[in-house]
Amino acid sequence: QPEPDASFRTILAWADERRDIGVRANCDTPAEAAVAAGFEAEGIGLCRTEHMFFDKARLTVMREMIFADDPADRAAALKQLLPVQRSDFLEIFRIMAGKPVTIRLLDPPLHEFLPHDRQGKLDLAASLDLPMARVEARIEALSEVNPMLGLRGVRLGILVPEIYEMQARAIFEAAIGSAPRVTPEVMIPLVSSRREVEIVKARIEAVAAQVRTESGIEFDYRLGVMVETPRAALRADEIAEYASFLSFGTNDLTQMTYGLSRDDAGRFMSAYVAEGVFPEDPFLQLDVDGVGELLTMGANRARAARRDVTLSICGEHGGDPDSIAFCRHAGFDYVSCSPFRVPVARMAAAHLAIRARGETTTAPPRR
Ligand code: PEP
Ligand code: MG
Repeated sequence: QPEPDASFRTILAWADERRDIGVRANCDTPAEAAVAAGFEAEGIGLCRTEHMFFDKARLTVMREMIFADDPADRAAALKQLLPVQRSDFLEIFRIMAGKPVTIRLLDPPLHEFLPHDRQGKLDLAASLDLPMARVEARIEALSEVNPMLGLRGVRLGILVPEIYEMQARAIFEAAIGSAPRVTPEVMIPLVSSRREVEIVKARIEAVAAQVRTESGIEFDYRLGVMVETPRAALRADEIAEYASFLSFGTNDLTQMTYGLSRDDAGRFMSAYVAEGVFPEDPFLQLDVDGVGELLTMGANRARAARRDVTLSICGEHGGDPDSIAFCRHAGFDYVSCSPFRVPVARMAAAHLAIRARGETTTAPPRR
């Protein structure tokens, strides 16, 4: 486990005394959470849950769920995943020891959980005891020309509600079972409209009410939204009425603002930059004139509608000092970055605060 040594810790502690923007980490696994805790991140700003479903046993259940036609059968299949999902979250809560943890509900399209080669399809047909034609038909029905712009994120959450219901239950049950107790933060991905949040919020609240009744334990949670479509930034005011926090996902937001595939842009971006067309690769350097405008505008609109809304960034840009400067200037509460970038982010944030106050960076801070 990487741990900063004593003098590095002292410098980071000085940085923390100075900085005025929070630093959390993006962690999907207990191992990443342990790195974040070692680097004293103030919490987890993004825990992506999709990786939790790719283990063989879990994948089998996901596939069973995908092939169930009836909502009750889907819920029954997903119920098998409830204990493992609960223990995923319990472990992360334990490592973060009461610090806030934001868990993002499932984001990818369902076809990512399905095999696409012939042998894989044959194995799946055998394991689910289904005719091959039925397996092929379902895979075909779920395939999309543009899956990144398709049935994923909140759209999937709305049309297959059993997934988010299972995840919300696992989050709440883990939160009430964890010591110290934690107020979990549940985040909805790929939102583009207020109504999506309203629908999912009502369903999640119903799950929370059930868990409170069954357990006899009162608990709170926070519900938030990822702002990663341009429309969510444009409508951040309406969305903030339903969300206590907004986290800007600049990976998808950059992709959608430019209409440029985040998965393929790397193939030609260096040539494009060399031609002098773009000053930088916008996936590496926050594009302050375009994507940055959406961040500022979204933040201002959200704050105007809900003064106490918590604002953050959780795309790859969150660990980059220039982006941290931008977010601080836009009044964000925290940045969330890869756990290994946490020390740099803490130092960069302190540097910005010191510069903004016109202090010298050479004198040691008064203790
Ligand atoms: C984003 O889109 O910026 C984000 C953080 O989510 P992901 O990278 O998982 O799409
Ligand atoms: Mg995203």
